[in-house]
Amino acid sequence: MPERPKRPDAAPSASFREEFELFHRHLVKHRLKRTSQRDLILQTFLETEAHLSVEELYDLVKRRDKTVGFTTVYRTLRLLVEAKLAREVNFNDGRARYEHEYKHDHHDHLICTECDALVEFFSPDIERLQEEIAGQYGFVISDHSHRVFGMCKAHYTNSDDYPPYCRKRPGATSGGERR
Ligand SMILES: [Zn+2]
Ligand SMILES: [Zn+2]
Ligand SMILES: [Zn+2]
Repeated sequence: MPERPKRPDAAPSASFREEFELFHRHLVKHRLKRTSQRDLILQTFLETEAHLSVEELYDLVKRRDKTVGFTTVYRTLRLLVEAKLAREVNFNDGRARYEHEYKHDHHDHLICTECDALVEFFSPDIERLQEEIAGQYGFVISDHSHRVFGMCKAHYTNSDDYPPYCRKRPGATSGGERR
């Protein structure tokens, strides 16, 4: 599952126009300034479909503008979460990764404890079953996230049988898989 091809460094592309509008509206609402750094962070975030940690996003942004600070990236990412453009995916160890939320369909994750690979899946059966279970408890679900922890085949068999999404696969790029 290769990463989506990189777009050239340019003004927000047409396909991201709505995302930028949402973001700028969020900034206005919270009386925050629209800055080229914040725009660059959003642009960089939108251009990758990987599940990124703050550090990974910071590294990507820094390649384009060395003057952007870590705190700016961190705070901007929080704004993206508030504006419902980004969603946090949490690990056992409290490490957070971020993925696109806007116009992305619901999915759940398999997480490799060895290499941190994240695999997205969607199961209508699981979705339906948990609605049923919640119903049995008189409970209404507003949100959920399944994080299924385990290991890529290469790790538990101690072989070089790497699935394409494994982050320890020779030649793998960091940032995780793409659905
Ligand atoms: Zn689900
Ligand atoms: Zn995901
Ligand atoms: Zn792996």
